[in-house]
Amino acid sequence: SDVSITPNTILTRLKHECATPLSLLQQVAANMSADMRAGLGLGLGPGPGPGPGGLPMIPSFVENLPTGNERGLFYALDLGGTNFRVLRVQLGGKDERVIATDFDQVSIPQHLMLSTSQELFDFIASGLAKFASKEDGRFHISPGRKREIGFTFSFPVKQTSIDSGLLIKWTKGFAVSGTPGRDVVACLNEAMERQQIDMRVSALVNDTVATLAGAEYWDNDVVVAVILGTGTNACYVEQISAIPKLHGHVSSSGKMIISTEWGAFSNGLPLTEFDRAMDAASINPGEQIFEKTISGMYLGEIVRRVLLKMAEEGGLFGKSILQNLSTPFILGTPDLCAMQQDCSGDLHAVGSLLYDKAQVESNLSERKTVIEVCETILKRGGSLAGAGIVGILQKMEEEQRGRIFGNGNRSVVAIDGGLYENYPQYRAHLHDSVKELLGAEKSKNVVIEHTKDGSGIGAALLAASNSLYP
Ligand code: ADP
Repeated sequence: SDVSITPNTILTRLKHECATPLSLLQQVAANMSADMRAGLGLGLGPGPGPGPGGLPMIPSFVENLPTGNERGLFYALDLGGTNFRVLRVQLGGKDERVIATDFDQVSIPQHLMLSTSQELFDFIASGLAKFASKEDGRFHISPGRKREIGFTFSFPVKQTSIDSGLLIKWTKGFAVSGTPGRDVVACLNEAMERQQIDMRVSALVNDTVATLAGAEYWDNDVVVAVILGTGTNACYVEQISAIPKLHGHVSSSGKMIISTEWGAFSNGLPLTEFDRAMDAASINPGEQIFEKTISGMYLGEIVRRVLLKMAEEGGLFGKSILQNLSTPFILGTPDLCAMQQDCSGDLHAVGSLLYDKAQVESNLSERKTVIEVCETILKRGGSLAGAGIVGILQKMEEEQRGRIFGNGNRSVVAIDGGLYENYPQYRAHLHDSVKELLGAEKSKNVVIEHTKDGSGIGAALLAASNSLYP
């Protein structure tokens, strides 16, 4: 190999290519606003895919956010992975708020993820029935009302109203026949009928929209919700008049939550050979580039690819065998986080983790290099996530001058997800980027808040604010 390549030359180049100076962050924020605007103008189309240059910008048909006055018993059902979660909440209005909650989680047997639509929805309905049969004295339904459900469904759907949406395709290991093209609310309603459960779906939402509703219930100034976990998405409250593709939609509130699907963004991102190779090897090459740059599923894998090149071409880790380090996804983002918390003089924890995960031996200077690689990828990710948030706020400000950044207003961004919650360095880079982009004056009006597990109650709240019974 080329004798001039050392871990240090690779690191220097990496830092250069991943740099996020203010000018670049400003451009990314501006591109995010522009791609949002383009996506709002594009036809609804058959799928969730972005049009040329535009983000999917999926209308949620959520036009009424919780006010805090909601009262009564509501349910939520969350299907988004190998578990489904059920929850009930007794709401007591402005003063009493959440009087009681209960929840349960049921894992979905592998064979049902590969079965028929009827079998899967029957399983879900019977889980819901079992949970509903265990209501205790803290919960009571008003006479003459059905129990209403907020259904969080985290697969691509073409939403047609607040309580209907056609499944575009299953993802995340599901391959259930008979559902694509069908209304998933109808599928659930039919299964409930077969099981003789007298409940009704009043709101169909994705988890980001439910998170916004959950956060907004406690703080009416929340206007944006962001998920930063394994994957990423963001949604926000848009003016109906700024959604050309909904032409003619009649709305009493004049607002609607839009799911940006910003994971699909890519315009102006600083990318490296490592990002391109990871993307090419992924199950969705060319897609979800922003997600692949900022979210938890990928940060560890990018670092692994950098370290492998440093080891193979620059002799990092001496004579260590590189078989394990060659294994995709052997380093997780929580591993980067654990290494970055090591403040011992000899970076002992870094050395142990590298040995445990990748079976490589390291000296102190090599461990320092590893930390610098982590920090470089982390800083890029957190800073770009911050720029994306500022892009959303700027788009909102363009629509409603003064409402977002104007004096005395308070605009809250609620963020949930394991990456944001657990990785202090990532969080700090995100906050720094938002501050740097907004400047001192505008920063005063913008609050970034951590919100935790708000999506369950959020979905139940949306069932309440979109209830059949006024
Ligand atoms: P999900 O996004 O899968 O629904 P979470 O919001 O809990 O669930 O996020 C989980 C993700 O958060 C993990 O895939 C991981 O990338 C990231 N994560 C979890 N714990 C940590 C940690 N200690 N440090 C850094 N990232 C973490």
